[in-house]
Amino acid sequence: MKDYYSILGVSRDASQEEIKKAYRALAHKYHPDKGGDEKKFKEINEAYQVLSNEKKRAQYDKFGRVFDGQSGPSGSREGFDFGNFSGFGKGFNFNRFWQNAGQDGGFSFDQTDLEDILGDLFGFGREAEPPDINKGRDIEVEVEITLEEAARGVKKKIYLNKFIVCPRCKGTGAEPGTKIKECFSCRGTGRVQQIKKTIFGTFTHYTVCPECHGQGKIPEKPCNVCKGEGRIKAKEEISFFIPPGVDNNQIIKIIGKGEAGRRNAGAGDLYIKVLVEEHRFFKRKGDDLYITVPITFSQASLGGEVEVPTIDNKKILLKVPAGTESGKVLRITGKGIPHFSGFGRGNMYVKLDIKVPKKTTKKQKKILEELKEEGL
Ligand SMILES: [Zn+2]
Ligand SMILES: [Zn+2]
Repeated sequence: MKDYYSILGVSRDASQEEIKKAYRALAHKYHPDKGGDEKKFKEINEAYQVLSNEKKRAQYDKFGRVFDGQSGPSGSREGFDFGNFSGFGKGFNFNRFWQNAGQDGGFSFDQTDLEDILGDLFGFGREAEPPDINKGRDIEVEVEITLEEAARGVKKKIYLNKFIVCPRCKGTGAEPGTKIKECFSCRGTGRVQQIKKTIFGTFTHYTVCPECHGQGKIPEKPCNVCKGEGRIKAKEEISFFIPPGVDNNQIIKIIGKGEAGRRNAGAGDLYIKVLVEEHRFFKRKGDDLYITVPITFSQASLGGEVEVPTIDNKKILLKVPAGTESGKVLRITGKGIPHFSGFGRGNMYVKLDIKVPKKTTKKQKKILEELKEEGL
């Protein structure tokens, strides 16, 4: 006698969920359409039919056999038993079973359940909501800006070749002055019935109506410009503002600026990837800026003031303390990049770099000689 539990590879106290999961995996593996072993596949189905039905399972657990003459949604199917069980003489003929299933469009077990399970095998799951095929696609673009622009925010203008709403019909797809009527093919439901024959029988399922693309309505007279699509390919100028504080590789989404949908179905979105160029002087780390500023030996020694540029194109005078060593870093608070949140900004760190003169005038040389004598 066949052990249905071992066929499905589950324990005797497996839950329905586990049984379903095991069946699904095995059905995938052994499906004849995918080059699997047909005999094994039938065996798996047989086991699943019994174990997935609590009543049959209880019977099987108790008596080790199953007889069912009245299962199925209508209760009118020809009964079958599994021929390997003694005492139920007829002997099960799988070929016959499949033929019957094909003819009456049913199964001897719960069809909805099976359809559910086979949904991903054949790609027509009942639960799967079809994606809106009429919605416009998203668009992704890259925009390069300078670090200064990233600091103060910048308005940009780009041109995109994309689907836009048809200006003649305003996206309805109908020639102006004509009506939109119910789709004849699907009678306004947006879906058409399709009959699919499989070794499990005949499935009826619904697909998106190819006539109206699922919208249920079509223009009485299609628009001359867009041929009823409600959208045309055109170049569109798009202006947008990149806010201050934007970082390199940051993506800014502009809702509804992707491609126009078919006949006023929603538009896609525009994703702008911002690339911030490297700066000549400033290095950015987070919202902080780093810059190296040269100072003279005498400034470092005696102290003084040095002019430092800022990212806002201003200059500030930085006080250099007397006795500053080369490489010293001074912080200027609040002179970094503004935080993207809009509140506050990072700091600027100034590294002081003592420049040793390569050429000196006669006078400078003389003074340096004197300094040398003084031990400096
Ligand atoms: Zn049009
Ligand atoms: Zn239709």
